[in-house]
Amino acid sequence: MTTLFISDLHLDLVRPEIIELFSKFVREEAVHADALYILGDLFEAWIGDDAEDETGRRFVEAMRPMREAQRPCFYMHGNRDFLLGERFAKEAGMTLLPDPSVIDLYGTPTLLMHGDTLCTDDVEYQAFRKLSRSPEWQRAFLSKSVEERQAFANQARQESKKHTGDTANEGIMDVNQGAVEQAMRSAKVDRLIHGHTHRPATHEIKRNGEILKRLVLADWYQHPSRLCILKP
Ligand code: MN
Repeated sequence: MTTLFISDLHLDLVRPEIIELFSKFVREEAVHADALYILGDLFEAWIGDDAEDETGRRFVEAMRPMREAQRPCFYMHGNRDFLLGERFAKEAGMTLLPDPSVIDLYGTPTLLMHGDTLCTDDVEYQAFRKLSRSPEWQRAFLSKSVEERQAFANQARQESKKHTGDTANEGIMDVNQGAVEQAMRSAKVDRLIHGHTHRPATHEIKRNGEILKRLVLADWYQHPSRLCILKP
């Protein structure tokens, strides 16, 4: 009796071995779990379910054992793949989960987030996030040709690389402690699981004699990583 959490796989054809390792993870581990949660940035980029995508096809194939065994899989958007829609999720066998969501994890209410909304010190990113999550922006973007969307995604990737690579920005790329506590307080939980920062850790926050736990998932750039919560 286990529940598995992964995030930030950043699946991309430039790292085909990671897709293979995900497929192995599904066959050997996820298919035996109570549920699998994917907390965003599953894909390096996603420009719409209607765009032909070889990475997406390989992912759907890797998920086949989950569908055949009818294992539940939940997926939350990340900042790279927020345009992933119902159509693709259904094809892969995933249920879309809003960010944030609170789940009952073997009796412990647990807050799940991608994690980007906690990085409130990155004002420039938060402004883009707000804009790009509006239905108007998404409608306009999705009505462009696949080529135009691809060009936009490539450019956004370059700019993001520059932004995160700038050491002056290092401090703002992590979560804001106040935002973490605020999110946990309003969700009334003492456990939070998120990804996004690629800074895997278990943080303990002491608040009024209580201990809050923040579990940060690792990325899959080099090798697979998952958080496994056992039924007590
Ligand atoms: Mn992210």
